[in-house]
Amino acid sequence: MNRSSGAILVLSGPSGAGKSSLINKIKDHIGPTYFSISTTTRAIREGEIDGVHYHFVTVDEFKKDIEQEMFLEYAIVHGNYYGTSLGPVKKALKEGKLVIFDIDVQGHDAVRNRLSDITTSVFITTPTLEELKKRLYTRSTDTQEVIEGRIEMAKREVQRISEYDFLVVNDDLEEASEILISIAKAARMKIPTLQINEFVHQWEEQS
Ligand code: 5GP
Repeated sequence: MNRSSGAILVLSGPSGAGKSSLINKIKDHIGPTYFSISTTTRAIREGEIDGVHYHFVTVDEFKKDIEQEMFLEYAIVHGNYYGTSLGPVKKALKEGKLVIFDIDVQGHDAVRNRLSDITTSVFITTPTLEELKKRLYTRSTDTQEVIEGRIEMAKREVQRISEYDFLVVNDDLEEASEILISIAKAARMKIPTLQINEFVHQWEEQS
């Protein structure tokens, strides 16, 4: 059975778990894809580009978008607003693309509630908390206070791994990306309930 409509792949996990590196590694191996660019009120980091990594906006602009129901989901993460705009996601799904979200556990919860039958989710983490701390401190793009906040957040987030379909432990980037490629390919084949009913109906008619 060929899927013509799109599907969603949610990737969550602590900052420092290597989500961005993994996405970069798999992006040319998983077919037509749309990487959702979130909107955020957090400050732009060195090396980030507005409109590429995020759409960076003010709190007032973000609140206006909430009022106008522009978001599929939004949440406050580490004290800043982050949200996924609905428009580009709808367009990509219509084009049959695999839409990839890098969002937190709250965002996953919201997407799952709204689009459960086309959503596959993966929690990505380091093998240990110790390793996460090491990576966050060596990356050192943030202040000590911010890093400590991220570590506390990570401890809370791992408690919710069971809400996800898959767990990928990013110990070895090569191995983790191979696993993620398989999951992404399978995610594309997930069948919405309506399409299953249609298929069964046609299958019976033709027998
Ligand atoms: P960072 O500031 O390190 O880029 O991201 C912090 C956290 O916010 C990460 O866990 C990331 O997955 C999450 N995040 C990024 N964009 C969104 C979004 O649109 N919605 C939600 N709920 N979380 C997001």
